[in-house]
Parts: sequence; structure tokens; C-alpha cells
Amino acid sequence: MPKTLNIIIYPDKTLRVKCIEIKKVDDKIRRLISDMELTMKEKDGVGLAGPQVGQTIRVIIINTKDGPLAMVNPKITKKSWRKESGEEGCLSIPDFYGSVKRHKKINVIYTDKHNKKIKLAAEGLFARVIQHEIDHLNGVLFIDYLPKKNLKDLPEE
Ligand SMILES: [Zn+2]
Repeated sequence: MPKTLNIIIYPDKTLRVKCIEIKKVDDKIRRLISDMELTMKEKDGVGLAGPQVGQTIRVIIINTKDGPLAMVNPKITKKSWRKESGEEGCLSIPDFYGSVKRHKKINVIYTDKHNKKIKLAAEGLFARVIQHEIDHLNGVLFIDYLPKKNLKDLPEE
């Protein structure tokens, strides 16, 4: 049975780690994915990345209308020149929100739960969430895009 994982909260250093590639999706990774899916659902998140549950490996979960989508080693292969602003929050930075500019459309390549390589095109909120979660794998947080003066309510890193 999947279990709920603890969410790492900012300014924990784990959130700043550059995560490593997953060589092969095995049962251990699949178990982590199930736990992350449950955790995202319980916390009512739109996405969740490995380092947010203390696993500094390249795996993210995106909440889609068809259910949770797990992406291993996701990579953006193309991004639109056009960007759009949207409000973002993060389970690791509770009760804090800010407007972030993201590419409107992206193409992504990733490995699925069964080690199959998948390509997909995303736009709008879906593209935004993927970009937010991939940032987590590189130790980047959405607050990094906000003006310094907007961050004064946050604890110092
Ligand atoms: Zn986040």
C-alpha cells in the first residue's frame, strides 16, 4: 500500500540540490512514484518533485485531468518564445504565492513507469506545472523568479 511522505519545507537545503538521473525504473522507483502520487493527492498539489519528499533523483508527478502522470528524467526539448504570467505556489513553501512567467508551450521527453520513452507537447497550466517541477530537479524554486522585495515574509536560506 502506498504511504504518505513528508514534504520538505523551505529553506531546507535539500530543495537546492541538483538531482541525479535515474538509470532504470525499478520496483523501488515505482513504489516511490505511488507514494508521491498519494502524497500529492492528499496535500491537494498540482505537482510534486523528488527533492520535495527528500529524494534527490529526477522524478516528478503532475496532476492531470486524467490522473497523476509520473515523469522520470524529464527534459524540455523545445519551448515557445512566448511566455505568460501565472500565479504559482509550492507545497514546500506553504501559504506563499507569486506571479511567474513561463513558456506558454513546451515539448518534453521523459521515461515512464515502464521504462518507455515518451514525448509530449504541453501548454498553459500543464506546461507551467511541468516547468515548475523540472526546476525543482535543478534546485530552482519559483520564488527565484520573484523580486527580492516580495520575499521578505519568507525565512532566510
Ligand atoms: Zn514546487
